[in-house]
This record gives sequence, structure tokens and C-alpha cells, in this order.
Amino acid sequence: MKKIAILGSTGSIGTQTLDILRMNSDLQAVALAACSSVEKMEEQIREFRPAVAAMWTEEAAADLRARVADLDVRILCGMEGLLEIAQLPESQVLVTAIVGMIGIRPTIAAIQAGKDIALANKETLVTAGHIIMPLAKEMGVAILPVDSEHSAIFQSLNGEPKEDRESKIEKILLTASGGPFRGKTKEELEGLRVEDALRHPNWVMGRKVTIDSSTLVNKGLEVMEAKWLFGVELDRIQVVVHPQSILHSAVQYVDGSIVAQLGIPDMRLPIQYALCYPHRRPMAGRRVDLFELGSLTFERPDLDTFPGLGLAYRAAEAGGSMPTVYNAANEKAVELFLNEKIPYLRIAELIGEAMERHQVVKDPALEEILEVETWTCEYVAERVLGCR
Ligand code: MG
Repeated sequence: MKKIAILGSTGSIGTQTLDILRMNSDLQAVALAACSSVEKMEEQIREFRPAVAAMWTEEAAADLRARVADLDVRILCGMEGLLEIAQLPESQVLVTAIVGMIGIRPTIAAIQAGKDIALANKETLVTAGHIIMPLAKEMGVAILPVDSEHSAIFQSLNGEPKEDRESKIEKILLTASGGPFRGKTKEELEGLRVEDALRHPNWVMGRKVTIDSSTLVNKGLEVMEAKWLFGVELDRIQVVVHPQSILHSAVQYVDGSIVAQLGIPDMRLPIQYALCYPHRRPMAGRRVDLFELGSLTFERPDLDTFPGLGLAYRAAEAGGSMPTVYNAANEKAVELFLNEKIPYLRIAELIGEAMERHQVVKDPALEEILEVETWTCEYVAERVLGCR
């Protein structure tokens, strides 16, 4: 029996992780945490019977406590709750499926407690990769990618001897669907509405990630994630737009061979792979039919219409605290866009403006990363709303 704790169990990745647990009777949820969906959490507790659950606010936790008073489950709240769940003695793997930089501290705590990490929280590596990766190595824990692209790269590296694997990678080919606005010009994206940006052609995801894929900022974050996960320099990570989302990413080796992973776009596949690694398990459902597909197409990303991707490379090159600014400015700008406070194209502009203003802190400690996050959010809010 593999015991699993899930941060963000009521979100898109969280609920699909629970689907995988339903399909694999030897995977057991021992702890669940969510932000505010009390009703959903109650259902999950009744079905999966974890020993511990946590809600972000005290109010939601109190509500949940009353609802599940008939069950033997401990209800925690806030960051303390997340940290306790991350380090829970009985769990072996922590699934980090929460969105935002809120995921960093629990991830570090889990690694320190020797838990393997099934990583779905991008912000963790983007902002604190320089802390996370050496710590994971020191503690001997595995960082198992859940993101479809990184899982594809991870799977494409299978079979290469670990010791010199990095030196055998010539290039990482990180695929991107291009989002709902692929092929559009900047002018065509002016005056775009929130609903338009929330319509993704291939993947069903949470709201923030959907906006991030439409701006290619999601891909920018994934470039930085790939750099940390696979120890590959930026100039060897190439974003390839592939609208069908069938080839989920590839590794080009020093002999010119390209090894890729293909499959239908279904997040449950990378989730199951991460939770069962190194074993590959059966999974029912649709299959890629090459005859039906006929062809797969690939194009270069349009950096003019989607400046968010170029900014990611600049942030990663600057290093230190700059990726935190990139990420936090985007997080705040997307929130403002979803609340209809700014037009769509302003998202990338605000990221650029915040980066321009920031003085890089080299090798930032966790506290400094969190301070930079706060500064960035305040700066972006001030630019837009005129006040802090
Ligand atoms: Mg992805």
C-alpha cells in the first residue's frame, strides 16, 4: 500500500489524482488539503477516509469539522495545516497540486521529512529550484513530475544511465498547444474577453492555468521547471508549438535521436505514472489512433504576439529572484484580468514592467523569495489600481 497526501485535492489535478486512487486499490489517500471547497472536501473525506484533512481558512475548517463530526478525521487549517500534512509520518508521497507560491513551504517541509514529491505546483521549482533540487538530492527523495510535458521528458529519459544522463541530452523539445489564440496577431487580442481566454482547445484545466496557457506564460514557467528538473541549460530547451497536443514533449540526444512520449491529452496518465513510478500500470480509455490523426504539426512560437514566453527566458537568465518576479507579477496580473480590471495584453506588459523595476537578489533564501513575491504583487496592484 502506498500512502499519499494531496495538497489541492478539490482542484483539477487533485480530483484527477483521486480518480487514479480509485483505479489503483494499492494507492491510499491519508491526507487531503484544499483551499475553500468545503462541500467537495466533505464528499472526498466520506469516500477516501483520510486520517487528516485541511482547509485554508479557519472558517472553512470549522464548517468542515461540523460536517464530518461523525467521522474519525482530524481537520486542520492554514499554512500550519499544510505543513503538518506535508510531513505526516504515515505518508510516503506528497502530491503538490495547489496553485501558487503557497506550495513552496509545504514542499520543502515534505522533502525534509523524506517524502517523495509528485510535483504539480510549478511555482515551487520556478521560484525555489535552487533550494529544492539540492535538498531533494541530499535527502534522497524523488521529484516526480506530474505536468504532462515534464512527465513526457521524464519518460523519454527512461533507460539512460542516470550518472551521465544530463551530458547525453542535446536538447529538450518542450511542446505547447499554442492555446486558444495561436495564429492571432496582437491587434486581434485587444478587447478580448475573459470567457474567450478561458476556452482551451485541448486541455480542461483550472482557470489560472488556462489563462497562462493562452499567454504562453505557462510554457515560460515550464521552461524554468524543466531547467531545474533535468539539469539542462536554457539554450538547450526549445519550445515547439504542437496544436494537436499528442506529442507531450521529447528529448533530443547527442546522437541526433529524438525520443518522445505520445498519448491522448489526459492528465491522469502523467499522474498515474508519477504515483506508480518506476512501474507502468494499465489505464483504460481512449488511445491515440495514428491513422485517424493522419499528421502531427509543429511550428515556432510567436514571440511577438506572446511576449510572456520571451520574458520567461529573460527572467531565467537573470536568475536569482527574477523568476519569482516573473511568476508573482503574472499571478497578480491574471487575477486582475479575471476580475476584469485590466485588458488581456496588459498581463505580459505588467510582468515586463515588474521585472524592469526589480533588482535581482542572487541565490535568495526562502524568506527573500517570499518578500520578493509580496513586493511584486504590491507593485503590480499599485500600477493598476493606483494604490497598495
Ligand atoms: Mg503543462
